[in-house]
Amino acid sequence: MTQNCIHWFRKGLRLHDNPALVAALRECKQLYPIYILDPWYPNNTKMGINRWRFLLGALKDLDCSLRKLNSRLFVVRGKPSEVLPKLFQKWKITRLTFEVDTEPYSLQRDKEVQKLAEEHGVEVIPKISHSLYNLERIIDENNGKAPLTYVRFQTVLKSIGPPKRPVPAPTQENMEGVSTPCTEQEGSKYSIPTLEEVGQDPQLAHTEVFPGGEQEALRRLDKYMDKPAWVCGFEKPQTSPNALSPSTTVLSPYLTIGCLSPRLFWWRIHDVYQGKRHSQPPVSLHGQLLWREFYYAAALDTPNFNKMEGNPVCTQVDWDSNPEHLAAWREARTGFPFVDAIMTQLRQEGWIHHLARHMVACFLTRGDLWTSWEEGQKVFEELLLDADWALNAGNWMWLSASAFFHQYFRVYSPIAFGKKTDKRGEYIKKYLPLLKKFPEQYIYEPWKAPRSVQEQAGCIVGKDYPRPIVEHEVISKKNIQRMKAAYAKRSPQTDKSPTKEKGAKHKGGSIKDMLTKKKKTST
Ligand code: FAD
Repeated sequence: MTQNCIHWFRKGLRLHDNPALVAALRECKQLYPIYILDPWYPNNTKMGINRWRFLLGALKDLDCSLRKLNSRLFVVRGKPSEVLPKLFQKWKITRLTFEVDTEPYSLQRDKEVQKLAEEHGVEVIPKISHSLYNLERIIDENNGKAPLTYVRFQTVLKSIGPPKRPVPAPTQENMEGVSTPCTEQEGSKYSIPTLEEVGQDPQLAHTEVFPGGEQEALRRLDKYMDKPAWVCGFEKPQTSPNALSPSTTVLSPYLTIGCLSPRLFWWRIHDVYQGKRHSQPPVSLHGQLLWREFYYAAALDTPNFNKMEGNPVCTQVDWDSNPEHLAAWREARTGFPFVDAIMTQLRQEGWIHHLARHMVACFLTRGDLWTSWEEGQKVFEELLLDADWALNAGNWMWLSASAFFHQYFRVYSPIAFGKKTDKRGEYIKKYLPLLKKFPEQYIYEPWKAPRSVQEQAGCIVGKDYPRPIVEHEVISKKNIQRMKAAYAKRSPQTDKSPTKEKGAKHKGGSIKDMLTKKKKTST
């Protein structure tokens, strides 16, 4: 029987390693590739201009690739549960395919869509390709609980084996006999939105450093994979948070919305490793992809993963609420040049190095400002091109020592930390040009410069650049004591890796509902 198919792109904005798109093409007569601009998707309301530009760029690139296959992308506006049934009828759809997405909103949305599809006689084929593994399998293999330590996680993966190989992108041959009918009217109705349409003012955009799209993702991947010594020697802690050009791959934005498949990334690294000595997880490049998987599994299995309250793995802390401190942190005016330079890079370019995230996250939470990690998470959600529901929450809990990491007495110094890799403060001078004439010895602490030096530098602290909003040496010691008190009240169960209990299988079921046993083996 020939099929009229909708392939619904959500994340997974690519043609390579897209098993759900491949499934759509089987016995397909008419293919309708769609993206739904869903005003209810929680992310959409929180996205800043750089994120929107990145997403729209990725959609344009996808449309362009589909057109080379004599198809196109339809960008549909509205709530999926409302627009999809109309499209089922209009296009006489018999099959709906999409990539599994394990965020709570997406799971609920897909459950509703699944039901509506059944009512319309539409077969639904979900496939796993946003993560390296089927996350439920990881949870099941760990006796029904997500592994909460990296070591435990690696042990579980040993029993599962390596991730599946990526599937090739569809070719002209695969598209033989497949058409994408589209009237002129539909062509404009379903066009790719502009920044204005999504409520953003293009005048406010900074120069684009990381353009969205699968082609750019693959170009970037090639660039790094062409450096075998770099790939084999990669050790995350040895990379620099304040390098003037990124010291890690910056593939995260492309992975987040699926312009790049994690499985392709994994196997390309694997191929580079062949026959060579190379670094190992957790610090290697494979190790980085496993961190991603680790947090995805934990997020799937933990209620309220992006909140402190009602989150069983999160230490309960009596964070302060100080809107002025929060605004100073967000707007890069803490008076600590290293922190402010990082927040400026984030605002302008939409990406900062992992250890730079450590610095500003520690400063906002347990280090200095004693502000809830949820507030930092919101700011990152708006500004990071790679903002990801699970990874953002998981890493914020780590940095605030709320979960996964417990050495709360190890605090990053906003003065000493940056100096380790950039003694002369070149990074600060790049992002805070106001300070560029300060001599090296004061660039991390301009308030210590004598008045004459400040005058010579053309920047008076307290007038042109803020004084530090806290006294780091004093406040960080006090905060360690507050954290100690929070830890003393912790339930012994918090953050414990599960013990082996026979028969304690994962109770989730939402994805299982979607993936029948037969389909599960084929994903
Ligand atoms: P590389 O070092 O080149 O690593 C390759 C890939 O591995 C990354 O692209 C990413 O997908 C994955 N990865 C690396 N480190 C981590 C990690 N610690 N946790 C999970 N995955 C990792 N990463 C996001 O993708 N989205 C977020 O919203 C996010 N929020 C964060 C918030 C805080 C407070 C912190 C401390 C870290 C956060 N990270 C987040 C993790 C990490 O900083 C970024 O993934 C990494 O810096 C991206 O740069 P890269 O692609 O050059 O990484």
